Amino acid sequence: MPQSDSKPEKGICSSCGLCSIQEWPMHESLQSCVFANGWLGKREKKLFGRERSLSNPEEMRFGISHERFTAQLKNPLPGAQWSGIITEIARRAFESGMVDGVITLHRSTENHFFSKPVLALSPEEIYESRGNKPVLSPVLKSLQTAFRKKLKKILVIGAACHIHTLRDFQERFHYLRDMDIYTAGIPCVDNVQRSRFNWILERISRSPGTARHMEFMQDFRIHIKHSGGSIEKVPFFSLPEELSNPDIFPESCMSCFDYLNSLSDITIGYLAARLLPDQNRQWVIVRTEKGKKLLDLVDDELERHPEHGDWECKKFVQGTAERTIESMKGLKKSYSPDRKIPLWLGQVMSWLLSVNGPQGVGFAHYSVDFHLIRHYYFVKYRYPEQLTLLVPRHVRSILQEYNLPL
Ligand SMILES: Cc1cc2nc3c(=O)[nH]c(=O)nc-3n(C[C@H](O)[C@H](O)[C@H](O)COP(=O)(O)OP(=O)(O)OC[C@H]3O[C@@H](n4cnc5c(N)ncnc54)[C@H](O)[C@@H]3O)c2cc1C
Ligand code: SF4
Ligand code: SF4
Repeated sequence: MPQSDSKPEKGICSSCGLCSIQEWPMHESLQSCVFANGWLGKREKKLFGRERSLSNPEEMRFGISHERFTAQLKNPLPGAQWSGIITEIARRAFESGMVDGVITLHRSTENHFFSKPVLALSPEEIYESRGNKPVLSPVLKSLQTAFRKKLKKILVIGAACHIHTLRDFQERFHYLRDMDIYTAGIPCVDNVQRSRFNWILERISRSPGTARHMEFMQDFRIHIKHSGGSIEKVPFFSLPEELSNPDIFPESCMSCFDYLNSLSDITIGYLAARLLPDQNRQWVIVRTEKGKKLLDLVDDELERHPEHGDWECKKFVQGTAERTIESMKGLKKSYSPDRKIPLWLGQVMSWLLSVNGPQGVGFAHYSVDFHLIRHYYFVKYRYPEQLTLLVPRHVRSILQEYNLPL
């Protein structure tokens, strides 16, 4: 198994990029780290004037918002992860003069799925940033370029760890205080370290060398598009057992409690969207006034649909909770390279669940709860001293709904 990339001198770290900046001392960047301050809590209160309600089950999972709906671009952008709403927002924000630059990622030349941080300063550079790079990515490193160029209005596209750390840093220190910063967030979970990516992909796909696009889908399968145009669909249930080893994921992502990027101005994912052939419906969560302004830039280009699906998913979460908690203890020392469930049976199980299992908001509810439970017990067993700091209060309320021990 590959070795860990963790950086003990920094503690838990998602390589967000802030610490690589040389314009200010590293110890100041570290003070703003989400893993030093914990998730949500005071940060959420600063942004919205309150923390999420513990009596509103949807807000507890999806965060505070003005509006939620599903949508896709009427003219999807080729090569985008879904329909390309994020890239289109970024392009419009730049062309309209709302921002002077976009902090995001390009693909590295070394590996199609790896990233390199970029401050995009033209529509072409923004367009180049589309598509997922499913590895830990130092997005915030480009703040250094924006700072040196004295940009006053920027858009940052990032995962929750980027947005948390950025908001804290902008408030805590003077360097970025007079920058007007807009944020577009992606939901993010199960991200991986570069050093492990190929090892993992080789165990998922029959042809890792030709894989060009990968997503964990609402039909309980991983869809991998290959360079020749074929789509491989691998059921979650039929992955080799060694991919269920929690130690292959970064400690940061196993200690992550903001799947839906609740401090971004607008979150754009797919989780609660209807999965339909030849469509790329996405899930849009507008959270702040700035998020509304970003949405206004592309609203005419969207085909909108209301959310769908039954909220209830308790039996599906309970069905996996006990096994998940047990595996977080780290007692199991060897994981088989074989599939416990053959591919054909996994395909049947995925199909049955995609028809009878949670859908739409119910699928998002299920996925958020599954990951919160997994991460709570990961921190509880591996970093008990960090439990109080890292875990936001709504997580305990959700665990109590399932009668799980705190
Ligand atoms: C590791 C990972 C896991 C995800 N898991 C989920 C999930 O479970 N549920 C869900 O609803 N959505 C998830 N997403 C987000 C989703 O896949 C799409 O990125 C999102 O819906 C936007 O689609 P789009 O077509 O509008 O994006 P595009 O227009 O293609 O733009 C995507 C933007 O995201 C940026 N980006 C790509 N990779 C990263 C990265 N590693 N870190 C920071 N920024 C990045 C790109 O540079 C680009 O600016 C995940 C994304 C990643 C990277
Ligand atoms: S997550 Fe970011 S701020 Fe925190 S230690 Fe890592 S690079 Fe630094
Ligand atoms: S899972 Fe969480 S910690 Fe990991 S990259 Fe995504 S937002 Fe950051």
